[in-house]
Amino acid sequence: MSAIHRMQPAVDTSNGCKGCNRSPVLSEERIEQLVQLAMAGKQADELASETVQQERFQRCMVCPSLQFGTTCKHCGCLVHIRTRLQASHCPAPAGSHWEL
Ligand code: SF4
Repeated sequence: MSAIHRMQPAVDTSNGCKGCNRSPVLSEERIEQLVQLAMAGKQADELASETVQQERFQRCMVCPSLQFGTTCKHCGCLVHIRTRLQASHCPAPAGSHWEL
């Protein structure tokens, strides 16, 4: 067995997270906290319109690339935040799911 095969992860990855032993599932309260932190200090022109935000979010919610109900597997972003930012795009490799 090579040295690399003997290496074991330093953390418990049984909950699905490859990088740490924290649960990747976020509570509604935690999501709201993260959204508030991310939005703090943003100017109005940095945010997509409410209509665009909602349309993007609805598309993310039915996307097969959404993980844990919160996270885009292509970029690792919390879609609750990504969908709100005007300059964001959908990183789906086969093409954006957000094109309106
Ligand atoms: S691929 Fe696009 S639509 Fe799907 S979760 Fe990521 S950002 Fe949302």
